[in-house]
Amino acid sequence: MILILGAGIIGLFTGYNLLKKGKKVIIFDANNTKANSTNAAVGMLAPLIEAKPQEFELFNLMLESKRIWKNLHNDRNIKNSFEYKKNGSLMIAQNEDDQEKLLFKKEFFKKIGFNSTFLDAKQTLDKEPFLNSNITSSLFCDNQDQINPDLLKKFLIKEIHEMGGVIKVGKKIKKILLKKNKVFLNNVDYKFEKIIISCGAWSNEIIYNSFGLKVPLRPLKGISLLVKSSEKLPIHNLWFRNIYIAPRSRGILAIGATEEEKGFDSSIKIDELYFLTNSIWESFPKLESLILKKIRVGLRPAIVDGNPIIGPMKKISPNIICNFGHYRNGILLAPITAEIVSKYVFEENVSGKYKFFSPSRFNL
Ligand SMILES: Cc1cc2nc3c(=O)[nH]c(=O)nc-3n(C[C@H](O)[C@H](O)[C@H](O)COP(=O)(O)OP(=O)(O)OC[C@H]3O[C@@H](n4cnc5c(N)ncnc54)[C@H](O)[C@@H]3O)c2cc1C
Repeated sequence: MILILGAGIIGLFTGYNLLKKGKKVIIFDANNTKANSTNAAVGMLAPLIEAKPQEFELFNLMLESKRIWKNLHNDRNIKNSFEYKKNGSLMIAQNEDDQEKLLFKKEFFKKIGFNSTFLDAKQTLDKEPFLNSNITSSLFCDNQDQINPDLLKKFLIKEIHEMGGVIKVGKKIKKILLKKNKVFLNNVDYKFEKIIISCGAWSNEIIYNSFGLKVPLRPLKGISLLVKSSEKLPIHNLWFRNIYIAPRSRGILAIGATEEEKGFDSSIKIDELYFLTNSIWESFPKLESLILKKIRVGLRPAIVDGNPIIGPMKKISPNIICNFGHYRNGILLAPITAEIVSKYVFEENVSGKYKFFSPSRFNL
């Protein structure tokens, strides 16, 4: 039996993948953790736009995951289950400073082997008539797509149940207590093959309570909005100076996001709301046609070096596998993460490029 702690996108995708490969799976989730990250995610699948010069290994991991997403998109049976949209992205400049940054980005993208297209104001408005005429220019990046994380979660839960997997939602698991070939979780014992920790921003808490080890993980709070528009929606994903927008079906726009270090605070503050609405006011036409549908808060699980932690905790047991710390890219990274974890579960050879993300880099 494989026990997975945490039913955010990472725990669910990993469970789904292992069930497909014939393993028995139980997933545990706490119904009293507020602000899980997945529920606030916008769902961008945009490795190029998320690339940073110092994050070479992470960029390659994102590209690999994107290739798996592409295969899922080509699978006729599931492609419509979570609204995968191959609509590409436009990064928008609203002044000369923004434009300088876009030109710098274009050079950077070229250096890492990707072409993007610079468009002047007229070309941008021809490509994306939704935009205000106050824009200066844009950079078009193909293959920077999106899915709907809410639908993805629903799809995974349904598939997990259909394949005989169990999802137990209840109290937070306080501690992992290993005794011979059994594990005790909240005083209930289970026989297990592997335990996978996918508790998002709470993963260090359970590791500390269980083994007294500290993991350099912190929550980074983010607010996103769902709004409904009665006007025409944009065609592309749009990336402005402060916000990004994913047009979904039925007139919905998902808009992200703030990012702040506020511990486990899950309340929504007026200044956070102001930041988003003011940025929308700067960037959007016809504000009066937008209806606010939902405000969502999520705690991104961020490791100190910006990379996720994926792999067995050799210091404690090869049967305890970490799978957390996906920070701002957990939706994009979920498929490749599930693949890597499955290699550890089946005790297959794991390539050096994946070992880079192992817990041993923090002596765990
Ligand atoms: C505003 C915002 C926008 C984002 N946009 C994007 C995007 O466009 N694209 C992208 O790729 N990523 C995006 N992200 C990042 C993405 O949401 C995260 O990387 C991802 O959701 C992390 O998933 P997770 O499963 O690790 O954590 P979570 O979704 O937080 O799930 C962790 C789960 O573990 C459970 N749990 C915790 N502790 C315990 C315990 N002790 N016992 C049992 N259960 C426990 C919790 O209840 C929770 O359900 C965004 C994040 C935010 C906040």
